[in-house]
Amino acid sequence: MRIDVLSIFPEYLEPLRLSLIGKAVTDGLLQLTVTDPRAFATDRHRTVDDTPYGGGAGMVMKPEPWAQALESVLGAQDDAAASRPVLVVPSPAGEVFTQEIAYELAAEEHLVFACGRYEGIDERFLEWAGREVRVRPLSLGDYVLNGGEVAVLAMTEAVTRLIPGVIGNPESLAEESHTGGLLEYPVYTKPAAWREREVPETLLSGHHGRIARWRRVQQLARTARRRPDMVLALDPATLDRADLAV
Ligand code: SAM
Repeated sequence: MRIDVLSIFPEYLEPLRLSLIGKAVTDGLLQLTVTDPRAFATDRHRTVDDTPYGGGAGMVMKPEPWAQALESVLGAQDDAAASRPVLVVPSPAGEVFTQEIAYELAAEEHLVFACGRYEGIDERFLEWAGREVRVRPLSLGDYVLNGGEVAVLAMTEAVTRLIPGVIGNPESLAEESHTGGLLEYPVYTKPAAWREREVPETLLSGHHGRIARWRRVQQLARTARRRPDMVLALDPATLDRADLAV
């Protein structure tokens, strides 16, 4: 997979060089570049923003430096790439990013992220970009950040860990929260007793069937308690007779 990030604060994306994403880059599973649209501003001050038409508070990012930054990463793309890249535009006014969307994006060959700042990017940039790429405005959640970089760090991590080979043991993805419509069960490690708290006896039993049922019950109970909206959205076909007793 190839990921290009457009940001006027390239240093904000440095954590993408660390840990599993950094290793994926080193191992050749991921190509990652960060491009600063300011490099394409033409005036002495390298201006990338201006006042909003119609008045109001804040500044708006000018379309031209963003268009040139996008053209520069598309121009550098491998001609053999089969599908048009996806341009993810982090925005509190976008569709909320979910694990399902993370799986969709992980199946793409080329993602470009455009990190807005201030009041966002001139809308014409998104309209124009739609000719070259598939534009996808995505929100991290129903709150407002100062810029798209934090959202890109979160989305990139959620997406790249789904690329085969990035996570050491792919089985660890199968039972995670938000895969299969439920939250994960509680987890424990050694010691079996800690500060007068015991690990649930079933987990020490070595009985695979009982452990699996215990975990399933915990998943259902935890999800009902913390995220009743997820329980209501469950496909009844995924529930068995024992689940209905929880
Ligand atoms: N005026 C915009 C609005 O109300 O929709 C908010 C602009 S915000 C201060 C600046 C930038 O931060 C946005 O362009 C976007 O890139 C990013 N941002 C803010 N909140 C976000 C969120 N919840 N999810 C993703 N990106 C966000």
